[in-house]
Amino acid sequence: MVKYIFVTGGVVSALGKGIAAAAMAALLEAKGLRVAIQKLDPYINVDPGTLSPFEHGEVFVTDDGCETDLDLGHYERFTSFRATVVNNYTTGKIYYNVITKERRGDYLGATVQVVPHITDAIKEAIKSAATSDLDILIVEIGGTVGDIESLPFLEAIRQFRYNVGKENVLYAHLTLVPFIRAAGEMKTKPTQHSVNELREIGIQPDVLLCRTERPLPPEMKRKIAIHCNLDTDAVIAALDLDTVYEVPLSLKAEGLDRLIDKKLQLNVTPPNTDEWENVVQRIKHPKHETTIAIVGKYVGLKDSYKSLEEALIHGGIANNSRVNLKWTNAEEIEKKGAEELLADVDGILVPGGFGIRGIEGKVQAVRYAREKKVPYFGICLGMQLAVIEIARTLCGLNANSTEFDPTTPNPIIYLMEKWYNHRTGTIEERTADSQMGGTMRLGAYPCVLKEETHAFAAYGAKEISERHRHRYEFNNQYREVLSQNGVILSGISPDGELCEIIELKDHPWFLGCQFHPEFKSRPREPHPLFTAFIAASLKAKMDFFPES
Ligand code: GLN
Repeated sequence: MVKYIFVTGGVVSALGKGIAAAAMAALLEAKGLRVAIQKLDPYINVDPGTLSPFEHGEVFVTDDGCETDLDLGHYERFTSFRATVVNNYTTGKIYYNVITKERRGDYLGATVQVVPHITDAIKEAIKSAATSDLDILIVEIGGTVGDIESLPFLEAIRQFRYNVGKENVLYAHLTLVPFIRAAGEMKTKPTQHSVNELREIGIQPDVLLCRTERPLPPEMKRKIAIHCNLDTDAVIAALDLDTVYEVPLSLKAEGLDRLIDKKLQLNVTPPNTDEWENVVQRIKHPKHETTIAIVGKYVGLKDSYKSLEEALIHGGIANNSRVNLKWTNAEEIEKKGAEELLADVDGILVPGGFGIRGIEGKVQAVRYAREKKVPYFGICLGMQLAVIEIARTLCGLNANSTEFDPTTPNPIIYLMEKWYNHRTGTIEERTADSQMGGTMRLGAYPCVLKEETHAFAAYGAKEISERHRHRYEFNNQYREVLSQNGVILSGISPDGELCEIIELKDHPWFLGCQFHPEFKSRPREPHPLFTAFIAASLKAKMDFFPES
């Protein structure tokens, strides 16, 4: 029988509910439990694919090709769980399903209402993720208690305990205990209000996770406990920490896993958190240091590159190195030149992106990396621009992507009409309609590596699988001319049609991949390409400054 932990948030948003849910899952997994996590998002977009990453943060992609909330990235990084389509529901997706059923006549003339139809659909959505191979399903409710949009979700999880039994459900609520500098005091009132609001709709939390910037003294915990109708040991301090990967350790130190055992009657062994201790040790006390430029079109919300940022940290963990990130605006490069902005970095990375802004600045960054022999890692758009730069400078072609110049004489990056989806075993076809927005190549695709390449050296395997999210592809008509000019096509789809990885001969480390490796990197399993890129950057730096 699967048991459920519902995680809600109060007081303000951005308290790190996703990290809290993920760290809780890590802790339970460290006890040998089989855990999955689901996110229920109150917004009306059917999926976050259409949301601006600069407003909402990155769109995370699952193996099965779902565009999801970035919290699913946290879930995967903290655990061995792999998300699928059932792990992220939005209000939009729930209503879409209910309205589709209504149009089909499934409700047999009934008046379709929020309660019970929407709440029932939410409960079904929760159950769809509670597969029989699990011990625990953690369900995070997006938004903050008190939001109008969250109400149907809160009502559904209230009913859920009623339906599946008290011993099978735990409600955890994340709140803020602010420190008021002027008064020199921590304040519990916002937490009390937030818990009251939950209780008004019939949910009494079993555990409070209190975000604080300073340790929560015992008398403060007692005060919160009395006001919120809880045992003192159910008030857990969630302290600000140097790295998010310390959160499982901190929750363990606060006794969260024992509390969950007790409330859910689990009766399991204490967690073994050695691996997390090792991760934290390597992040906090690295032996080396390297600086990577990330050349993009921001610089706004950094969450728009969350997985990338984490994957670079993971590459650092593998190399026992701190990785400093230099967020570099591509348009600045257009104005000031690459040398000015990139001379002090050890590696250059151009990440994924859409739209024409800053494109030429990114191409200049590629050229700089190639000519100065600085390690270069191009991801998705970063690979496409590497191909364009090489075609222009080394092959003498007036080349571009049709994304940026639809009438370019050499469309080296273009829209493919058809391609084979190895995962689903179907041919995907681009329709006239879908050129406007729709059809992307999404989710996991296999890729075969060529031996004696950087890619093969990194992965140590012949066949790999990586996740995609893009529309444009490398145009196979240009394979020959690129190969004649020092490019190695080191990763190709099994049917030989899709070019997935390119590299340069005669360069210490220059690699572009059409997929997004950052989605599969974990602190306990750093991604091979990030490990290799950071290793190359460290080496470049050491060759330059032998004493470091
Ligand atoms: N804009 C490019 C495309 O659609 C790259 C997308 C990306 O980097 N994710 O193919």
